[in-house]
Amino acid sequence: MTTAKVKTKNKCSFCGRPESEVGFLISGLDGYICDSCAVQAYNITEKAMAAIKPKKKDVLKLKNLPKPLEIKEFLDQYVIGQDSAKRYLSVSVYNHYKRLTQETIEGEEDVEIEKSNIIMVGSTGTGKTLLARTIAKMLKVPFTIVDATVLTQAGYVGEDIESILTRLLQVADYNVEEAERGIVFVDEIDKIARKGDNPSITRDVSGEGVQQGLLKLLEGAVVNVPPKGGRKHPEQELVAVNTKDILFICGGAFDGIERKIAQRLNANVVGYAAARDSVQLDKDNMLQYVAPQDLKSFGLIPEIIGRLPVLTYLEPLDKKALRAILTEPKNSIIKQYKKLFSMDDVDLSFEDGVLDFVVDKAIEYKLGARGLRSIMEAIMTDIMFELPSEEKNVYCVTEDYAKKQIDKTNALTLRV
Ligand code: ADP
Repeated sequence: MTTAKVKTKNKCSFCGRPESEVGFLISGLDGYICDSCAVQAYNITEKAMAAIKPKKKDVLKLKNLPKPLEIKEFLDQYVIGQDSAKRYLSVSVYNHYKRLTQETIEGEEDVEIEKSNIIMVGSTGTGKTLLARTIAKMLKVPFTIVDATVLTQAGYVGEDIESILTRLLQVADYNVEEAERGIVFVDEIDKIARKGDNPSITRDVSGEGVQQGLLKLLEGAVVNVPPKGGRKHPEQELVAVNTKDILFICGGAFDGIERKIAQRLNANVVGYAAARDSVQLDKDNMLQYVAPQDLKSFGLIPEIIGRLPVLTYLEPLDKKALRAILTEPKNSIIKQYKKLFSMDDVDLSFEDGVLDFVVDKAIEYKLGARGLRSIMEAIMTDIMFELPSEEKNVYCVTEDYAKKQIDKTNALTLRV
């Protein structure tokens, strides 16, 4: 290329097209690149860099991992009570990390740490999802929540089991290796229980069939996943994802499982008068005695139970816990309202009685922790509407005001 030529007619040194045929040319020391070649070069570079990027496995060092105690302390900042579940979760997550950092030296037979998937049993609104979400906050692995009720066997209305992995791929920005070490929270797993303790003879589309599909993922399998999700894009190329290192945390309310637990415990003590006398069952919190065979009686297949070796429970939330939920967590409802008002330069406070009143209403309407927010909203909406236009810098919500607001609210609208 001579200087004279370049001066008269600049062209892209990559595709050879002249300036007039491209969007624009970027000049270098000794040549030019057009806009479309630059875009192409960028894409090539990005792909090449992704291929040589150091693997997370190397970056994840055992000494940098949060210890179970630290994980629990983090959970304590957001979740009230539930000590048992927090401990089990912290240990399982820590062990999950350990598995991921386990170095296998070629040719050497090492002890392979198996993953310990978790199942949490507890009434709705006691914090199962909150625990899972909070764990996700502190983790540096992809995390997703799926609702088991929408899963169906392949070919039926609903989502295929593979959709779980599609979500994980999406949160991992389609980095397969990252997705393969992620965590999945399967909510409402009790809803895919089969209807009785006996294996079904007829096809059970939403129950046992889904459990079989889920089992495959829990056990560890290479699954071909549609990266954009199931049926809308039949033309997409499937991506192979190995679920061997994905940690599954399952949660469910298992309504009525207390009866199965009681039956088992009663059956066990028959004939052992001494044992029966010495065991004092806490009838208000039967879930604490939950054992794998109760999950089987409820309708989970034994293979699934076998793949969920860590079984823990959530406590029912009493008055004291509900009150603490209002004020103590790092982003508690009360702290959130105070924050909202402080953005309008208003110092918001509540009479103590207001909090007790809200808790009592949540219990009266049987709304549990989920109801706290809707009750607070009913109390606060008028103030939030009016206060920003008023010249006030302090505002105290009184018990009388709270009662008045709830009285004029239709109780049906407080349902969650
Ligand atoms: P679950 O998954 O058990 O049905 P969630 O975790 O979705 O219940 O709880 C619903 C809401 O109730 C949460 O978003 C949170 O605001 C509140 N909540 C429930 N349990 C707790 C708890 N133990 N500590 C703090 N907040 C809680």
